[in-house]
Amino acid sequence: MKEILLCKYGEIVLKGANRRYFEDMLGKELRFRAASFGNFSVTWAQSTIYIEPKDEFADLDGMFEAARRLFGIAGVVRAAVAEKNMESILSTAKSYLPPFLSGKKTFKVEAKRSDKAFPLSSPEISREAGGAILSVMPHLRVDVHNPDVTVRVEVRETAAYVHAGQFKGAGGLPVGAGGKGLLLLSGGIDSPVAGWMMAKRGVKLEALYFESMPYTSEQAREKVLDLAGLVARWAGSMQVNVISLTHIQEELVKHCDEEYFTLLLRRFMMRLANRVAGMKGCEALITGESLGQVASQTMQALNVTNAIAAYPVFRPCIGMDKEEIVQIARMIDTFETSILPFEDCCTVFTPKHPKTRPVLSKVEEQEKRLPVDALVEEAFATLQSFYIRAKF
Ligand code: ATP
Ligand code: MG
Repeated sequence: MKEILLCKYGEIVLKGANRRYFEDMLGKELRFRAASFGNFSVTWAQSTIYIEPKDEFADLDGMFEAARRLFGIAGVVRAAVAEKNMESILSTAKSYLPPFLSGKKTFKVEAKRSDKAFPLSSPEISREAGGAILSVMPHLRVDVHNPDVTVRVEVRETAAYVHAGQFKGAGGLPVGAGGKGLLLLSGGIDSPVAGWMMAKRGVKLEALYFESMPYTSEQAREKVLDLAGLVARWAGSMQVNVISLTHIQEELVKHCDEEYFTLLLRRFMMRLANRVAGMKGCEALITGESLGQVASQTMQALNVTNAIAAYPVFRPCIGMDKEEIVQIARMIDTFETSILPFEDCCTVFTPKHPKTRPVLSKVEEQEKRLPVDALVEEAFATLQSFYIRAKF
């Protein structure tokens, strides 16, 4: 028996004239993902995307998970394909549905015909399919008000589909519909979650990672590239840009007061992020900051770094506590990688007593001790870019 996936749109159904454009984006990304799982055809009609395996080697389970992670898809259905006649529909229902109904007590059948030329009405299809199911699973009872399982029979243009319920999709909007943002991606827990949250609102991600070799290691970089690959399973492939802050950090330590190290470093990160965003066509910066979490994330400290940003800074974790962020990190599978113990450039030369209520003018005075523009220029020249595909 042939099984296929039916993907149902989420919010984009509401978007009127843009709908075709969104459908194209979803279809294109599903085709791209399908290439990792074998030979599939991806087509769409009537607010549904059809993903059909074209040979027996195609990995439908893998494709199912990949489709469930696509933003813009509200639900994914696994369905058996039947011919458009009652005999085929009933025999498909009898052989396909038992595993979905075992251990359940009640069910109902909802039939839908978009092909009005089909000889039976929807209630008639429901009744016959219900009878067929009861003939192979006589312990079940029909309950039209509050069933354990709702079986659906959909008679469409070219075939009929039989299935037993919809799995939740990723929701949100198709990636790309909300512009492009530059994610400041560290190896921590928060920034992958922040990237995921913005991608859910349709933002295409470009990433920027700052390292400080030899104070940070090759493994720290590998970890960040791995995290990008995990976020890409939802958000799509992304470019990860890597910039070295080594010399900037060494100069900070030589010339500035210790309590300002982190703040000054974060302002350098912002200056470089402005440059990368401009070069890569990004219209916002994204960070994993959460109010009050560490010394550099007080309102005053955020204002001092924000003052140097040339783009809006999106901080989707700002009002969340760590527990809530960890919950999302676990759900999107980045948590285990995030907690691998490799150092980050922010943890190198950390001040013992960082300024938690910094004053902008004082920070600017510290910066006068440094050739800021030349340091930014030099760091920018270390930029390397890596194209990261989803790790399925
Ligand atoms: P995270 O868990 O995301 O690392 P954090 O709680 O450790 O966050 P900080 O290290 O102060 O907080 O960083 C705040 C934000 O600054 C991060 O969420 C990230 O967006 C950005 N950031 C920090 N370090 C780096 C880095 N090495 N490269 C790129 N961005 C960084
Ligand atoms: Mg960090």
